[in-house]
Amino acid sequence: MQETAKQIFDKDAKDYLPVFNRYKIVVDHGEGVYTYDNEGNKYIDFLAGIAVNVLGHNYKPLVNAISEQAAKVIHISNLYYTQAQADAASKLVKLSGLNRAFFCNSGAEANEGAMKIARKFAHNIDKEKSQIITAWNSFHGRTLATLTATGQPHYQEGYEPLPGGFDYVHYNDIEELEKTMNDKTCAVMLETIQGEGGVYPPKNDYFKKVRELCDKYKALLILDEIQCGIGRSGKFFAYENYGIKPDIVTLAKGLAGGVPIGAFIVTEEVAAAFKPGDHGTTFGGNPLACAAANVVLDTIPNKEFLTNVVEVGDYFKGALVGLKAKYSTLIADVRGEGLLLGAELTNQNKLSGVEIVNECMKRGAIINCTVGKVLRFIPPLIITKEHVDEVIKILDEVLKMSL
Ligand SMILES: *Cc1c(COP(=O)(O)O)cnc(C)c1O
Repeated sequence: MQETAKQIFDKDAKDYLPVFNRYKIVVDHGEGVYTYDNEGNKYIDFLAGIAVNVLGHNYKPLVNAISEQAAKVIHISNLYYTQAQADAASKLVKLSGLNRAFFCNSGAEANEGAMKIARKFAHNIDKEKSQIITAWNSFHGRTLATLTATGQPHYQEGYEPLPGGFDYVHYNDIEELEKTMNDKTCAVMLETIQGEGGVYPPKNDYFKKVRELCDKYKALLILDEIQCGIGRSGKFFAYENYGIKPDIVTLAKGLAGGVPIGAFIVTEEVAAAFKPGDHGTTFGGNPLACAAANVVLDTIPNKEFLTNVVEVGDYFKGALVGLKAKYSTLIADVRGEGLLLGAELTNQNKLSGVEIVNECMKRGAIINCTVGKVLRFIPPLIITKEHVDEVIKILDEVLKMSL
């Protein structure tokens, strides 16, 4: 039975575990860059299911691939081979310049697997080589190990005792990293561009120096590209922008265009740390998820596709810089790469970040605010300049109210 929005809000309030602060929309369907609620309202969607719907909604080749695969076989476990999984792994290996891929179901699981293989690898060198260094302000997931890796104490409070062996440094501070590393460092895990923490790209040669330090201490460099990968930065992998290669890269979010999936990809040397039985998953890399991933992997790495991300991203960033000039007391900074952009609010706004998001929603635009003060834009990668104009016009109206 189709219920009204009010009935669904009430049902959720009564029966769902209350961990989400939800916006008051019941989503009915989507088409391209637009999302429609069950009362017929239309929204231009610049959040894309939190950087997941990279090809937008109802992208026909994706819908067809999922439907065709579902009619053949949805799931069979990793005790058997499938064409879809073998294809998706080969594509990721080719694109990454690394050697072996593993599929799981989420970002947290991808990072969890990356840390597990890093520990095995390091312990083969030295049983005490356990230290994992991550960055303050990072986000790596919600399992016990990944929330420990996440350098934001509010995600950790109440879950103690936390897994041991973690240390934190400030992202972009190479001296602090150097002081924190030693022969017992197992891995350095960083988002190539910090996302949830407020959209912080790396300084010019930061990653070149991180790579050098990892090589010096025989520590593995794990890059979390769950949010900034899959073409969002303008390159398929964000690390391609900085002239380095990690030992392990993790992906999830956009990798299957909305079907749950995660992956980590490693060098041959790292791969050798795992023997059959050392890691596993029931659902991970099932043919349904991999059929969806194959469409994403056949579409996004194309030159024209990525050129559009760069061009529309530059145009969008330029428009946000224009708003910063117009509302210089309200916007402190505009930053990001490609279609991972942030506009940091000053404390002189009459409206809070969440109120700005809500006012945009009332006017038909879905955007996001992270860490309370950074408007974050992570739209589908298929947007055009016209879509950007539409959102900028609404933001302009809302910022006027915030003066
Ligand atoms: C979203 C995110 C994760 C966690 O992914 P889940 O699928 O929610 O577990 C990890 N790292 C980064 C950078 C993310 O943006």
